[in-house]
Amino acid sequence: MTITPLMPVYPRCGFRPVRGEGAWLISEDGSRALDFASGIAVNLLGHGHPHVTQAIQEQAATLMHVSNLYGSPQGEKFAQRLVDTTFADTVFFTNSGAEAVECAIKAARAYHQSAGSERFEIITFKNAFHGRTMATISASNQEKMHHGFSPLLNGFKYVDFDDLEGAKAAINENTAAFLVEPIQGEGGVRPASDEFMKGLRALADEHGILLVLDEVQCGVARTGMLYAHELYGVTPDIMASAKGIGAGFPFGACLATEDAARGMVVGTHGSTYGGNPLAMAAGNAVWDVVANDEFLEHVRTIGAKLRAAIEQFIGNYPALFTGVRGEGLMLGVTMTHPTRGFVAHLRDNHGLLTVAAGDDTLRVLPPLNIDESHIATFIEKLSAGAADYEIPAS
Ligand SMILES: *Cc1c(COP(=O)(O)O)cnc(C)c1O
Repeated sequence: MTITPLMPVYPRCGFRPVRGEGAWLISEDGSRALDFASGIAVNLLGHGHPHVTQAIQEQAATLMHVSNLYGSPQGEKFAQRLVDTTFADTVFFTNSGAEAVECAIKAARAYHQSAGSERFEIITFKNAFHGRTMATISASNQEKMHHGFSPLLNGFKYVDFDDLEGAKAAINENTAAFLVEPIQGEGGVRPASDEFMKGLRALADEHGILLVLDEVQCGVARTGMLYAHELYGVTPDIMASAKGIGAGFPFGACLATEDAARGMVVGTHGSTYGGNPLAMAAGNAVWDVVANDEFLEHVRTIGAKLRAAIEQFIGNYPALFTGVRGEGLMLGVTMTHPTRGFVAHLRDNHGLLTVAAGDDTLRVLPPLNIDESHIATFIEKLSAGAADYEIPAS
């Protein structure tokens, strides 16, 4: 047999973490790496955060899982906090980001179809990433994710990201919703323009269609706002959240206004594990830490410092880097050539973890509770990595 016990769908590298301490990961062989990837925007309080760890430990010992057939004091508490701190009136808990987007797609269709309309089509944007289920790969135009999985789910129309005129032209009598990441993550840390986000909201209102946001990566304080749409002064009808929401405990959430959730009545949707007490303990612990002005202000301040430090540094290497974009602690450093080799070099030779995005973007996604000493170490490692990197001949 040549297949590996772990189904070989990931190109796994030789770094094999077995322990985490704050912003550091320690591998099987004892080597340490500064984790400015955070499990791809998941470990938003670093590794082993005492408050989150304790909440999960205590809940695990008390009650881990019960069916959604029973009342859920833990779920009600966290859902109420989400309702109190966001645009939403109601929340469905999932186990992942893709499932949160699935729920959002179903809710958008049901919004129309429960009221007697046939509308089903969802307008999405090129280079988006919404997850790996059949519906969520269908929602993305990226053919590399489609290959071998046809037929796709019907009813998605792809328009250029940040192209308001294109979005407007794509609307027809079947349009149910727009689905968009306010800041594309996998697509290369691309923030939508203010005009685009406000324009989508206006088009949605004008045409009776829903604005659905995928904030799986950019949400939960990552940008220095609890959710990224607050940067634009635009509120969605439905929003998918996940990644940072459990700080490493896997779960997600689909948030909606009362009106947008009108189709999601008893029996229309479900999940065995969704919103179980253990996940809710993690979510409540995360909200204890992040959902306050002081923490969000810290993310904005430290994010601005990190960005300034990167901008100053990349000036020394114009042959390698072209710029920085993003918000808060969701930053993308654009490069002159494909980024994957440089990400591997930083990891293997300098103990620094970052993530590639798109073709030419180095994603910098540190834990949100870093301080200036982490920025200094990051810049040291990045400098050393840039100094001894040989740009591969293309
Ligand atoms: C990661 C991600 C998803 C998918 O989340 P999973 O937990 O991997 O299913 C969906 N949308 C965006 C924007 C993401 O970054």
